[in-house]
Amino acid sequence: MWTPNRRARPAWAKIRLIVLHSTGGSFASAISWLMNKASQVSAHYVVSRAGAVKKLAPLSDVTWHAGKAEWRGETRVNDISVGIEMEHIDGRQDWPAKQVAAVVALIGALRAVYGPLPVTSHAYVARPRGRKVDPVGCPWAEVPPPTEV
Ligand SMILES: [Zn+2]
Repeated sequence: MWTPNRRARPAWAKIRLIVLHSTGGSFASAISWLMNKASQVSAHYVVSRAGAVKKLAPLSDVTWHAGKAEWRGETRVNDISVGIEMEHIDGRQDWPAKQVAAVVALIGALRAVYGPLPVTSHAYVARPRGRKVDPVGCPWAEVPPPTEV
């Protein structure tokens, strides 16, 4: 079952970017929240600390993860991106190797289909700057470039 918080990706919008997030809570609670119509938020994937990957929407749909945001002058960031939520409580948890490996594999699979998509953080694209800080302490050195964070 897909999240109700999605809509068809507009015809003009090609996937050009991957945006990484922290859930701020457990894997199960994040999925529950992102699947709840009342939340009005979503992402394409949630990756657990153990490395499990849950897909919540097809890539042909836009998910609602970036909020007010901008990337290279484009303010419709959700329309051009894939959103990946990582089970992580900012400032209170480490980044398990299994989780990082699962995220890196997912990025690799997406790039195999869509080309060398840059990877960025919610903190980098959120507007006004400082509105979001996630994912805090993400081990960017382990994420193959290009990254913009
Ligand atoms: Zn976020």
